[in-house]
Amino acid sequence: MPEILIRCPITGRDVHTGIALAADVFLHTEFETHPVACPYCGARHSWSKKDAYMQFPPERTPSASRKEPH
Ligand SMILES: [Zn+2]
Repeated sequence: MPEILIRCPITGRDVHTGIALAADVFLHTEFETHPVACPYCGARHSWSKKDAYMQFPPERTPSASRKEPH
């Protein structure tokens, strides 16, 4: 299952949120702000859905909300 990552604003490194969701669940889930303890800079980063991305190959990035008509 793909994991949700955010980017540390201080170090620019990928921070694991510890949350893993299926892509379609991620797309349809409204996230509240989740602070995550950053292992790189030691701060807690608040993130929301727009900051989050999934650990996918680029072609699987679920940013395109288009759906192919059947
Ligand atoms: Zn950080």
